[in-house]
Amino acid sequence: MSENSEIKTLNTICREAKAQGKLSGKNLTDLYDLFGQRFTKALEALKENRVKKYVFRPSGRTVWIVVGRERDYLLMPEAEFCTCDDFYFRVLDRKIHLCYHLIAQKIARNLGWYETLEENDELYDTLMSEWKKPTP
Ligand SMILES: [Zn+2]
Repeated sequence: MSENSEIKTLNTICREAKAQGKLSGKNLTDLYDLFGQRFTKALEALKENRVKKYVFRPSGRTVWIVVGRERDYLLMPEAEFCTCDDFYFRVLDRKIHLCYHLIAQKIARNLGWYETLEENDELYDTLMSEWKKPTP
């Protein structure tokens, strides 16, 4: 499956889910067929409320984070970018296309399944350098 069709299918399902306000049984089956374990992990992150949207004030800059077991992952959904190892090693290798964080973020954004946290702009650089740190 090409990168585009994976993202396209996910976007289509997200649009449907947004219109319905939930993931239907068919959506769940389709997502599992498409992503397998990646979807299982994404769903776990969603159920555990680990998708966070940080809004910095007063600038209004927005950053998406998925809280992981070991560390937090910084996402740039517009660029389909994530700071996790899966992304570096597999996405760049074209073995997989979307890591589970990006899948979770897309679903979260469409269904409102995320927590919004507000931070002061003064903390932006500190938090960004923390989130961008490679896995130890
Ligand atoms: Zn990731």
